[in-house]
Amino acid sequence: MKCTSCDSHNVQRVQMAYEMGTHTISTTSKGTISGTSRTISSSGGGRQQTELARRLSPPRKRSLTFASVFMLIGLFMFLGGMNLAKETSRPQTASSAQVQHKQKKKVEKVDLALEATTATMPAAELSPLIATFTNPVVLTGLVISLLGIAWSIRNRLWNRRQWPLLFAEWQRLWICNQCGTVFAQ
Ligand SMILES: [Zn+2]
Repeated sequence: MKCTSCDSHNVQRVQMAYEMGTHTISTTSKGTISGTSRTISSSGGGRQQTELARRLSPPRKRSLTFASVFMLIGLFMFLGGMNLAKETSRPQTASSAQVQHKQKKKVEKVDLALEATTATMPAAELSPLIATFTNPVVLTGLVISLLGIAWSIRNRLWNRRQWPLLFAEWQRLWICNQCGTVFAQ
């Protein structure tokens, strides 16, 4: 194996160079509080990466976090809007039912011409449902959660189909320690 640019044999896999340049570090520090016998210790950890390792990092999978947040926000808006629409439509339906009842009585008693309006009354029973689903909050929530679902599916598919190809491609990369050229083999 030699560099495609300078013919040097001082080459190594990019994956190896990346792993060597990325260290998981853990730190523990201990101290004694002056004047007492108590000791304090603190520990921490982190990942340290060289500039080279950062440059050679493998392709990342797409995050599903934002899509999930979208789905949740949409769901809360949808359910909240449903509740709100139900509460606001309840007294209305009660009063419209009363109106319908009064109108019916009138129709029965006197005015035959009003019979035409009674034909539209069954449709009025559907109105709470229509009102719920045409409520802007419910609709917005529905759209946001559907977008979140679509986004999540898209990212999952990408992670399953595209990412392995990119990762395999990355695993075939070599870097020349002489001139820094990255090439595929
Ligand atoms: Zn080279």
